[in-house]
Amino acid sequence: AFRTAKRLDEVGFSDIVQIRNKVLELRAAGVPVHAFHGGEPFFDTPEPIKQAMTRALAENQTRYAPSSGIAPLREIIAEKLRTKNHMDVQVEDVIVTVGGAHALYAAFQTVLDPGDDVLLFSPYWTPIRDMITGAEARPLLVSTASARQSGITQMLERLSTPQTRAIYYNTPQNPSGTVFSRKEAEEVAAFAMERDLIVFADEAYEDLVYDGDHVSIASLPGMAQRTITCYTLSKSYGMTGWRVGYAVAKEPFMTGLRKMVLYSTNGVSTPTQYAALEALKTPQTELDARRAEYRKRRDLLVAGLNELGLTCPVPEGAFYAFPSVAKISKDSRKAANLLLEKAHVATIPGVVFGAQGEGSVRFGYAVPEQAIHAGLDALRAFLK
Ligand code: PLP
Repeated sequence: AFRTAKRLDEVGFSDIVQIRNKVLELRAAGVPVHAFHGGEPFFDTPEPIKQAMTRALAENQTRYAPSSGIAPLREIIAEKLRTKNHMDVQVEDVIVTVGGAHALYAAFQTVLDPGDDVLLFSPYWTPIRDMITGAEARPLLVSTASARQSGITQMLERLSTPQTRAIYYNTPQNPSGTVFSRKEAEEVAAFAMERDLIVFADEAYEDLVYDGDHVSIASLPGMAQRTITCYTLSKSYGMTGWRVGYAVAKEPFMTGLRKMVLYSTNGVSTPTQYAALEALKTPQTELDARRAEYRKRRDLLVAGLNELGLTCPVPEGAFYAFPSVAKISKDSRKAANLLLEKAHVATIPGVVFGAQGEGSVRFGYAVPEQAIHAGLDALRAFLK
């Protein structure tokens, strides 16, 4: 019989797909579902961005473009990274990718050899583990909550091995909404420098920090050389389906990323890149206004969950709440199943995001405010 490459043996499909299918089934059967399982913005792609693509098509911007991205897009990204992320960046340090996922995939493939270990703060965005194992490396799980309590450096020291080559560092974090402070970023950076580690920084939710500031770890002294930072337009600009993101890195990593992109996608579709260019021109005030909208939703949902005894720390960023479901079941899969079947509230069991997520479920609150009220009502009725 045929078989696939051995390196895929340890790579799984996330249960999130199964949950999405179950929700579709329930809906098809006429059951209204309170959908908190997703992770995409509540607003549609803004008109100017859509128009930029239409314009590009009318102007026949439909041919091959440089596989690393069109020059004006890379330039505006470099400028954004300098002013907003305080990074020391030139145009040649930027590459455009098919979403944040592709940037991360290319980064792992560029750096990791079979047998390498990667420190992975947990709970983590599920695909990260699969991308690391797909590169034949091993994830070493670092409990974010314990590390923050007992000291990050100490925890990283305890868990790292002689094979440790890199750290995956996601702030704001999916699924917990954790935002690492500047001091914490400095601790991770100091550890990386002391051990000569590479950092994969995932800043997909950089525009969604509610308390405190977003700190790009690559902006800290000595870090630009050893960090590959991955971004996406999905969350900030309501562009999940457009599949566009970018990575920033210095040599030798940029050459590696270029090879990975050249031989996987040969770049992002040309008209999409013109839309991305328009998105990057969005005034900061607009991003701030949206963040305020998300904040309202966060406060509403988190207060409601706590009131119902689903203890929920206040997430400092992203658009997820991660309450304890101890009141329903210690087993987060059981709890999420009960919530879906009895209350018709769709969430993601925390264990999907790593063992450290067990005991909680993830609510995505990038939904209309009315949907949060309705979801809380359904939870209240179920818990009674
Ligand atoms: N990183 C994190 C932490 C995410 O949650 C996501 C999407 O959910 C991404 C990266 C990648 O997003 P995309 O591939 O849509 O750009």
